[in-house]
Amino acid sequence: MLYIDGQWVQAVSGEELEVINPATKEVISKVARANGEDSKLAIESAERAFKPWKQKPAKERASYLKDAAAYLREHIDSLAETVTKEMGKPVNEAKGEINLAIDYIDWYAEEAKRVYGETIPASHKDKRLMVLKEPVGVTAAVTPWNFPVAMITRKVAPALAAGCPVVIKPASATPLSAIKVFEAFHEVGLPKGVANLVSGSASKVVGEMTRNPAVKKITFTGSTEVGKKLMRDSADTVKKVSMELGGHAPFIVFEDADIDKAVKGAVASKFRNAGQTCICTNRIYVHENIAEEFGKKLSGMVSQLKIGNGLEDGVAIGPLIDEGAYEKVDEHISDAKEKGAKVLCGGKKASVDNQNGWFYEPTVLQGATDEMVISTEETFGPVAPIYTFTTKEEVVERANHSEYGLAAYCYTKDLNQAYFMMEELEYGIVGINDPIPTTAQAPFGGLKESGIGREGGHHGIDEYLEEKFVSLNIG
Ligand code: NAP
Repeated sequence: MLYIDGQWVQAVSGEELEVINPATKEVISKVARANGEDSKLAIESAERAFKPWKQKPAKERASYLKDAAAYLREHIDSLAETVTKEMGKPVNEAKGEINLAIDYIDWYAEEAKRVYGETIPASHKDKRLMVLKEPVGVTAAVTPWNFPVAMITRKVAPALAAGCPVVIKPASATPLSAIKVFEAFHEVGLPKGVANLVSGSASKVVGEMTRNPAVKKITFTGSTEVGKKLMRDSADTVKKVSMELGGHAPFIVFEDADIDKAVKGAVASKFRNAGQTCICTNRIYVHENIAEEFGKKLSGMVSQLKIGNGLEDGVAIGPLIDEGAYEKVDEHISDAKEKGAKVLCGGKKASVDNQNGWFYEPTVLQGATDEMVISTEETFGPVAPIYTFTTKEEVVERANHSEYGLAAYCYTKDLNQAYFMMEELEYGIVGINDPIPTTAQAPFGGLKESGIGREGGHHGIDEYLEEKFVSLNIG
């Protein structure tokens, strides 16, 4: 179903899209497939909702968000099962994602009340200078499948908190999770038009969003390629944009690091969500003196990870999202092997009893080099290539040699070295001895072609606000 103007509706065309469980390749549901016309109706509804919504006191907007957070908390088990069924991640990881998603709602329910303006000392005795912060207006949000709940709330919560109504187009692979999030908005009585859901044709739904002058802001999470297209398409109506795009994270382990902690960190950063995470490790640089030991320990731990349907107990590696993802992983590994990498564990498609899905063995490659395709392209799969390095200057240069700049990780006990890395790494997020840095109260986002703008923290709400300068002459 679509959710437009406070109602659950079918698509105007009557079209439907199939939802497939990647663990079994079975069709688990059919949902309405929106086109441009549905998108337009949703935008018009949001436009009508804008004024009354922005005029509500922040405390009142916040209370809807708090109620929605409470509703999701109550329904976490069934929502987690839906996430696992439609995109494959193990159910405990799905619960972790939903808790993060709820944290964003809670955080922005509080931030709604802290949209402070500014007064500026004037150079003329009769003038009073102020900056007012106002909601930017109707916001269109386009989200990916890999975090089908958190990527929605990380946009909807700050937008609603700021006073902006939203129209969401979730990924076509994961419309059911989005519907469940919207059930929360419906159940807490969010005024009609304030949040709208239009799953469906990317080109038509999003095409309408970028063309329509009523949309003042586009917020996107997904691939760099599509993000660039949306920026170009938004230029004609000069929309405000924020872009959370692809990544290619280096993970650097110095000789002085606690190797066991670094190995555990690499597993957490690389293999959660079967490697389908924008901030997940893509290149592991290990100091040459400890590379062999690190490789042995890492492959020992990775070969223990249980592959299977994420609904089963103890599963750590679920299926990949689709055939394309599966083939891409295989191609990256073949290329690396041809160019001299050694497979320490995994390295091939996996077969799982009673499941017909896109499973791939978690893989560790030793002897990776900068010439391999895996060194520059986002794999988005469970493959950990290990490179070696000699000096910190050399490794920083290689780590930064990427068009991406989302997240980077570094393991060391040396404070000076940690500071050097913190300052030299050209990445929007740096985890030092920390493989899972994401948290609702901190800004998340990338440098270079990984994006524009930040989500999370007090910074995230600014993406949905305009600054209005007022000069008052009282003379
Ligand atoms: P994607 O192919 O770019 O899709 C993302 C969204 O854009 C989906 O809703 C998709 O709709 C829509 N879309 C696709 N083609 C479009 C087009 N031509 N015009 C308008 N909309 C279009 O990315 P994905 O495969 O879902 O997600 C993986 C990517 O997201 C990776 O690169 C990952 O690094 C990135 N990501 C970044 C962050 C971050 O915070 N920086 C977080 C998560 C993921 P359909 O599903 O209908 O095609």
